[in-house]
Amino acid sequence: MHKLLTDSPGEKMLMLGNEAIARGAIEAGVAFGATYPGTPSSEISEYLFRISHETDLYFEYSTNEKVALEIAAGAAVCGLRSMAVMKHVGMNVAADALMTLAYVGVRGGLVIVCADDPFMFSSQNEQDNRYYGKLSGLPILEPSTGDEAKEMVKYAFDLSEELKEPVILRTTTRINHSSFVVELGNIRRRETRGDFEKNPFRYVTVPAVSRNLHKLLLQNYDKALATANRSPWNRISGDGKWGIACNGVSYNYVQDAVKELGISERTKVLRVGFSHPFPNGLVQEFLKGCERVLVVEEGEPYMEESVKAAAQEAGCTISIRGKGDELFSRLFEFDPALVRRNVARFFGLSEPMSESISAAGLPEIPQRPPNLCAGCPHRATFYSVRKVLGDDAIYPTDIGCYTLGLLPPLSMADFLICMGSSVGTAAGFARATGRKVVAFIGDSTFFHSGLPGLVSAVHHNHNFTLVILDNGTTAMTGHQPHPGVDLRPLGFEGYSTVDIETVVRGLGVKHVTVVEPLKLKKTQEAVKEAVEFKGVSVIISREICPLYAKVLPDAKKTRSFHVAEAKCANHRVCINDLGCPAFYLEDDRVKINENVCIGCAVCAQICPENAILPVKTA
Ligand code: SF4
Ligand code: SF4
Repeated sequence: MHKLLTDSPGEKMLMLGNEAIARGAIEAGVAFGATYPGTPSSEISEYLFRISHETDLYFEYSTNEKVALEIAAGAAVCGLRSMAVMKHVGMNVAADALMTLAYVGVRGGLVIVCADDPFMFSSQNEQDNRYYGKLSGLPILEPSTGDEAKEMVKYAFDLSEELKEPVILRTTTRINHSSFVVELGNIRRRETRGDFEKNPFRYVTVPAVSRNLHKLLLQNYDKALATANRSPWNRISGDGKWGIACNGVSYNYVQDAVKELGISERTKVLRVGFSHPFPNGLVQEFLKGCERVLVVEEGEPYMEESVKAAAQEAGCTISIRGKGDELFSRLFEFDPALVRRNVARFFGLSEPMSESISAAGLPEIPQRPPNLCAGCPHRATFYSVRKVLGDDAIYPTDIGCYTLGLLPPLSMADFLICMGSSVGTAAGFARATGRKVVAFIGDSTFFHSGLPGLVSAVHHNHNFTLVILDNGTTAMTGHQPHPGVDLRPLGFEGYSTVDIETVVRGLGVKHVTVVEPLKLKKTQEAVKEAVEFKGVSVIISREICPLYAKVLPDAKKTRSFHVAEAKCANHRVCINDLGCPAFYLEDDRVKINENVCIGCAVCAQICPENAILPVKTA
């Protein structure tokens, strides 16, 4: 049995924030869920997906976040407690559905978990998704710890059913990926059978219907605001003339700072957990008696603007600061030391020296630029395309492990803005320049949002080559499935596999080639032919991600390679052209780390001296 199904209320468990969120959903009786994987939210879905194979919970990996929200909305409208899970940029994809779903509402609770990524550990931007609350009119809850996240998920389902509209649970990386002691609660019985009551005047958003629904949404907003003002998730602690307003993980840093600076006696702290609608009544109460207020929040000045607005409405003219040159930045993550320093600075205190942790004796960590893994088939594909076209072509790329093709020596990424953008932008580059364009997209990203761009390109007779890097999984987020994956080897029955080649041909692409990228010569021939074709050509470069292959039941043992010193001319073509992390230098000679090498044999094919050979086994 999955550990998150443990039915012993009161038991304490150490959990990742994402585990706690999944457990909260289980305790709330979630019956239906969908996702597109995205760090820092991915583990929530992994737990729920696994649990769905042990229980009557339905959970799916959808082709993108919009589809995930749509399917979850369908179930919620039928009365089932449902969840859609995504990372912050995924919300942009889901936004079209989100904005009108806010009007239409739901019957069963619908919780949208959206994980923001300040500092962009694994994202293309650090947008602050609290503004989606303002944009859509939907409530937003923000936990400060993992155990609180679990409780908030349950509350979010109740709130959603009370207001009859989706509720957004917004987290940040530090909450998702830190560990917390979490106390288990009761597991509510799952209702897995719903019913749809036809009501076109509520569910069919033609303008005449939507005009009424928008009024309803605004009435609901007032109800939600009243709830936020008295919500226990928004609380004031301490007393004094100094005020600090904070949210999410910053609350923990503020608590530490207040203690370490010895200002508990004179400081009032407002923690905002129900952050949209913004609890302006409670904030006005908090401001009473304060002489100055500091707002501590990662990301944009969302709370700061709201606190200032609440102060203005109340005729309060004290100094309220947050973001600014000498205070907090809108960039990146906060940490305890940064918060302590800025609290000290704002209130004119001298900051105590923090106890430093001695790093003496610890070996220095080697600097490692992000790199494709040893034996990654993407490296072989990039090598072949570069061999054929060099710098003459434009290379739009997409979101996945293969984005790392950006780095030298491969340098195979010229443009990237979002999921699926390689295909649409390739058409733009080709039309605008008349140059050769080779775009790269992963298999999962192809299903996510590459398809519409390809349909358009075929229809408009654009002239470029799309390379679909089909490694049989969604590798970057941790090997989740997508519609092209055969799930039977993993023991999951009942899924069909959608064949990329059939799809591409079905869309009308006339020149389609499937290559095995580890065979360099044949791949290069296929690239030459594809780029000479006038129109849209597609190369499907198919080789399983070796990291994923290792976890499959029929995983084969591979033989690593070594450099035969007597044959090696030490000209370093291997290192300079491939940049595989299995290579290293020792005494100025090229070596292969046999523990890292997975035996893909790509380097053996490019060594002009045939000096790279399989390690002999006894
Ligand atoms: S996880 Fe797989 S696809 Fe990603 S870089 Fe490593 S080998 Fe390549
Ligand atoms: S390409 Fe071959 S000969 Fe040249 S350095 Fe590498 S292993 Fe040695």
